[in-house]
Amino acid sequence: MTPVDLKRLIHSVFASREEEMLCSEFFEQLPRYVEMEASGQDAAGLLPEVAHHLQQCSECGELYRALSEAIL
Ligand SMILES: [Zn+2]
Repeated sequence: MTPVDLKRLIHSVFASREEEMLCSEFFEQLPRYVEMEASGQDAAGLLPEVAHHLQQCSECGELYRALSEAIL
């Protein structure tokens, strides 16, 4: 890996971190998200940050599965 590649990598990590949702924000949105899915709405389209966080964070993904199983 060249220094330029490394710089680019570091930059992309920090850049994506800025946009990334915090787990605490995710928890606030999760009940809404699961309810939308349960009622047949496009939850991922309406709350894209939540859908994105679900893919990035395995702990929140597990929580999501537990909650959606409890509701559905
Ligand atoms: Zn998370």
